[in-house]
Amino acid sequence: MIRLKLLFCILLNVLFNSCSMNLKAEPEIYIRFNQIGFLPDDFKTAIILSTYNLEGKQIFLVNSKNEKKILSIQLNNNLGVYGDFSYTYIVDFSIINTPGEYFIQYSRQKTSSFRINEGIYYGLADSLLQFFRVQRCGYTDPLLHKICHISDATGLIYGKNVINKTFDVTGGWHDAGDYIKFLNTTAFSTYMLLFSYEYDPVKFSSDRNKNNVPDILEEAKVGLDWMLRCLYEKNKLITQVQDLRDHDVGWRLPEDDPLGYDRPAFIGIGKNLIGIYSATMALASRIWTSKINYPEFADKCLNAAVYLYALKDKVPDIDSSGTGMYLDKTFKGKLSLGAIELYLSTKKTVYLQEAVDYADSAKSDYWWSWGDVNSLADYKLGKIIPRFGNYIKNNLEEFNKTKKKNLFGKGIDFTWGTNVTMLGIALQNILYKKLTGDTKFDSLEIYQRDFILGRNAWGVSFINGFGSNYTKNFHHPISFIKRKLPGGFAAGPASNEILNKYKIVLEKKDKFYKFQSDESIYRDDRMDYITNEPTITGNATAVFVFGNLLK
Ligand SMILES: [Zn+2]
Repeated sequence: MIRLKLLFCILLNVLFNSCSMNLKAEPEIYIRFNQIGFLPDDFKTAIILSTYNLEGKQIFLVNSKNEKKILSIQLNNNLGVYGDFSYTYIVDFSIINTPGEYFIQYSRQKTSSFRINEGIYYGLADSLLQFFRVQRCGYTDPLLHKICHISDATGLIYGKNVINKTFDVTGGWHDAGDYIKFLNTTAFSTYMLLFSYEYDPVKFSSDRNKNNVPDILEEAKVGLDWMLRCLYEKNKLITQVQDLRDHDVGWRLPEDDPLGYDRPAFIGIGKNLIGIYSATMALASRIWTSKINYPEFADKCLNAAVYLYALKDKVPDIDSSGTGMYLDKTFKGKLSLGAIELYLSTKKTVYLQEAVDYADSAKSDYWWSWGDVNSLADYKLGKIIPRFGNYIKNNLEEFNKTKKKNLFGKGIDFTWGTNVTMLGIALQNILYKKLTGDTKFDSLEIYQRDFILGRNAWGVSFINGFGSNYTKNFHHPISFIKRKLPGGFAAGPASNEILNKYKIVLEKKDKFYKFQSDESIYRDDRMDYITNEPTITGNATAVFVFGNLLK
């Protein structure tokens, strides 16, 4: 009888590759690593997820060119359960720093190739910057779509009052997968582009259209021009263009938007907006004086910064106009950034003192996002008064504690926008190291970067076009219709708790179901606006981090 069942089982196995008797399940082993590769001096690690105990087994680093095994590592120290995988290991091949192309091999299983060398990140920051061209709105020479939303704005909303009046706020960038424009995130993103250029004018000098203006400054000018238009009369700002109806009219190219001629703008102001706005304009004024030699524009930017900053004591702490998105929790870090940039542009010590006071009041924010920018102000202040570097160090110490508690070395728990905050951690280490020379947090930075490029449970590089297995199905209509999204950068895995609140119906079967855990979920599905939507603020952070990896 047993022999009969065995025979039947073999037959079933041949036909359906399954059997109730299932003599022994095939072990499933997945090797997760940064799919682009490593700079020679990096910490170089990969993670193994396995359903099978691999204790004592060998894993190899192999030269892709000649298939020579150049390093053998014995697997031991099972790090415990992750999702459906009972055995997890970290392999460290940091000692290999010879430039070349490699893959990792376990038994007959081989990974895709990655490189160890200087210059392997070339093109990544340029691509991330190109995403902004896709986001461009109005008469701004956009990429992958036509000129759009040429009547912005078709009405004005001030509190409960609707003002039946048009106002020119054409241009700028769509915020994410939608076509709404926000002053808060536009100012942050513009600041980050300018900050990147100022931080290292050589690394951020790429000039693809060869017009002698770095692409990053051309892109920043799209933000600056729109921000200047957002200066509304009587001490007010345009804070948002278009409302949430945008999310309900279906997937379309921006030039085909049925709401294209029905896009109201919101009027508001707050200390938070004044902070990031004046920081951006004050920094722009220095660059347009020293690099572009366009004094009229530089003056316009500085005047806007000075004018707005002077209003700060007469306005609410946090702007609450608009539809409730991108509401800051605090304004102090942003006002400190505004003040220090004004000091650097005017040399008036009153600004320096206020920057110090706001930064000391804001302290460390232990985070990074469009709303958590204390480390930028602390970096700028730290160059003048070194103790401000300690606020960034406090952040990094906390991230480092979290890093030690999880397999992938993430500096934070999963959230909405995990990937962006992780790159913010990398950014903070870059700034901290520049201030102090302290390399204590280098592995923290590298683990965050490697997570983004494939060293994660799903084995995905979250940047479109980079790595052997990258995000493709963004929550982004232009990307869906045009079948591409240069520099698309997904928001990344989120906690189950967040995803359970939003009952997102996916378009396709979840191909990553094996790698979802009780802790977090990521889906490369265009309907997933939590884990798979790109944003201008995410890309602005990523441009800085990956641009800095160039030699
Ligand atoms: Zn548009």
